[in-house]
Amino acid sequence: MGDQARVVIIGAGIVGCSAAYHLAELGWTDVVVVDQGPLYHTGGSTSHAPGLMFQLNASPTVTALARYSADLYERLRPSEGPGYYRTGSLEVATSPTRWAELKRKLGHALSWGLPAELISGQEASRIVPLLRPEGLYGALHVHSDGVARAVRVAATLAAAAQRRGVRFQGGTMVTAIEVAGGRVRAVVTSAGRIEAENVLVCAGIWGPAIGRMAGVALPLTPVQHQYVTTAPLAALAGQIGEISQPIVRHQDRSMYFRQHGESYGIGSYGHQPLVVEVADIPSHQVTPTPSVLPFTAEHFAPALRHAAALMPALANIELATAINGMFSFTPDGQSLLGESPDVRGFWVAEAVWVTHGGGTGKVIAEWLVEGTPSLDLHELDLNRFHAHALTHPYIIARGAQQYREVYDIIHPLQGMDHPRGLRRGPFYERQKELGAVFLEGAGWERPQWFEANAALLDPNQPPARFGWAARNWSPVAAAEHRAARERAALFDLSPFTKLEVSGPGALDYLQRLTCNQMDTPLSKVTYTALLNERGGIECDLTVTRLGDRRFLILTGAAAGRHDLAWLRRHLPDDGSVTLTDVTSGWCCLGLWGPAARAVLGGVCADDLSDGAFPYFSARQITVGYVPALALRVSYVGELGWEIYAPTEYGAALWETLWEAGQPWGLTAAGGAAFDSLRLEKGYRLWGSDITPDHTPYEAGLGFAVRLRKGDFLGRAALIRQKEQGPRRRLVALALDDPRVVLLGKEPILSAGHVVGYVTSATYGYTVGQSIAYGYLPTECAAEGARVEAQYFGERHGAIVVREPLYDPHNQRMTSATAEPARP
Ligand code: FAD
Repeated sequence: MGDQARVVIIGAGIVGCSAAYHLAELGWTDVVVVDQGPLYHTGGSTSHAPGLMFQLNASPTVTALARYSADLYERLRPSEGPGYYRTGSLEVATSPTRWAELKRKLGHALSWGLPAELISGQEASRIVPLLRPEGLYGALHVHSDGVARAVRVAATLAAAAQRRGVRFQGGTMVTAIEVAGGRVRAVVTSAGRIEAENVLVCAGIWGPAIGRMAGVALPLTPVQHQYVTTAPLAALAGQIGEISQPIVRHQDRSMYFRQHGESYGIGSYGHQPLVVEVADIPSHQVTPTPSVLPFTAEHFAPALRHAAALMPALANIELATAINGMFSFTPDGQSLLGESPDVRGFWVAEAVWVTHGGGTGKVIAEWLVEGTPSLDLHELDLNRFHAHALTHPYIIARGAQQYREVYDIIHPLQGMDHPRGLRRGPFYERQKELGAVFLEGAGWERPQWFEANAALLDPNQPPARFGWAARNWSPVAAAEHRAARERAALFDLSPFTKLEVSGPGALDYLQRLTCNQMDTPLSKVTYTALLNERGGIECDLTVTRLGDRRFLILTGAAAGRHDLAWLRRHLPDDGSVTLTDVTSGWCCLGLWGPAARAVLGGVCADDLSDGAFPYFSARQITVGYVPALALRVSYVGELGWEIYAPTEYGAALWETLWEAGQPWGLTAAGGAAFDSLRLEKGYRLWGSDITPDHTPYEAGLGFAVRLRKGDFLGRAALIRQKEQGPRRRLVALALDDPRVVLLGKEPILSAGHVVGYVTSATYGYTVGQSIAYGYLPTECAAEGARVEAQYFGERHGAIVVREPLYDPHNQRMTSATAEPARP
């Protein structure tokens, strides 16, 4: 094992072995992998996973990780037999709702380039004869799905890593992690101490215990999950080999199936979630399979009935084996990848299925060795969770819910039921009085629309919606949108993440990280992106210069933790820069619309004229009695301000503006209107329109790049791309039928071929068009080009339009005078 290593990997399951293999491939061989159990049947989850691999996921990243894993497992060719059986898969629909969902999922498959097709119930039953065709609406057939032999694959990956010099040691338990000066220094094990610059936690359900050793919260909980195999079935008699039939998912009953020779395997998520405390996981001293608990037949009984209804040959069967294993669930169901910003060198690859183990090992190795992974991993970023999501009760409640919902059909705007009300801003009570319909985001209660505004609805507007687009939506959003365009609207922006950067090194630090010019006059607001080495957009935010050495960064609520971690990771070691999260200290109201100046002017004696307070600048002002910092910016494309006040003044700020606004028809507005306003104006949303995989040039944000300002992170990649010209471009599409409103991720086709997918979509109530954005190859991206978007299996014509659709010359926001007559 040795007493020194560049990386110590904890855990020799599928994830630890894959990480070791890929680190070695990238040239890092001074690596030790330790496991408390024997190598390779370690007793972890990998040891008992039946290995079904359904690659398709609503996330392109997660799908890419699965595709890479399937290819890798197949390519490895372990000496004991195949690592991957490419059997194909069927996801069957036994309800019209599921059948519609499968059509939507086919759209995802097309968007991510995974070959798949919808087939009839009869055809499904022909491919898997155990399936009863009656009652089947059809199935989604993914030909390249299959089954991994997880232990076989892990052992083969480990052997390949060992050949390059990686050391593996079983029967060695990690008992402590030494941290000093904010860095990992050593790993203490039952077989001795290993000095290490980096530790990579691949400890599966034990992950939180390892995290605690370093003072890092890992938000996952083990949940029990049961899997049985039947005695040989007459219907499978004579089957040669381990598996030849496609794997099956019956999501209407939260179940899955695979063949084991003449027997059949059945898994179910259908019972109540059985969460286990990490401290209660049995130890290796007690059992060789500590991740397995006693099988509880009462929880599995309904699943056996549902199995027999789907596959009559499974009625009254005898079970050959029945296990109750544990694996990890996080609050949002996604993996935990990356380095802790609190403890440098403390890396994590947790809550990963066998399905994604190969790809996860690859990207985490890239991240360690090269500093940036080759894929956009923001949805899996360890640092995406806000403080409440790291508390034990939250982890348990949300982990259990993820188990319940694992096969459910979830609408993108479906709010979670529990826990709610965790982050309530100072406007919350006023919003409730106005009938706010709240959606949870990053723990905040955020109004989507206000029922009180139903009275403002124009009966001819907007066009009726149908299907999914009509869910979790209200036409009231149209009235709120119009209020912002025609009068004035008040938006609660308190959830924005607010970060203060200060100190003698602050300017240099920001110059090095951002692509726009930060050396600006005081009070200037600058829109900028922070790029990775590949030129991809890691953060998208504004920076306001508050002093020579003091800056205020404003970014979205959802992106906030990610952005904070990125900024912390790049802080200089010399202490010349202080970075402080001041989010909770400030509330914020967006006051926008042609009457915004009149409304604010009624309660503010400061000079709000265009000359004194120009666009993209900040001023200290007084609103009634409330001291505030106002920024003349707009994410909705209208004249107005973001007004920041210390949180305890929030209620007074709302009341003052509300009263001043009444003569002008000031209207409270929610997230649904906000989204429609921003998309008409072409403002990109980080996480969907722009991500670490997209550069500013591809995203149409070249106007915010200052290549001549000096070196900055990502500059070299941008220069290369500028010389060659980007190969794809973010474009705006207008759908031919304005009643068809997309939700995002739908495939975009040109001449019948998929060329991209929708990153954002909604209806623009001012322009009267159904708008979608997406990246298209430059040859398909010219204005006027015709494309189609596939939505729930149907294709809808669309045209590439000049963007933004609304006020392309920014006349509204930069308005010096515009002010409507009092209504
Ligand atoms: P593990 O395989 O658990 O490895 C973690 C290792 O860390 C263990 O070997 C453990 O001994 C070691 N370790 C922990 N603490 C220490 C310590 N202090 N010191 C030293 N070593 C330590 N996934 C799929 O993709 N498809 C499926 O069909 C599927 N079916 C499943 C069915 C069941 C019943 C269960 C329970 C899980 C299933 N999964 C499936 C999930 C899958 O098994 C896991 O997500 C995956 O195996 C996790 O791999 P891992 O390497 O992260 O963890």
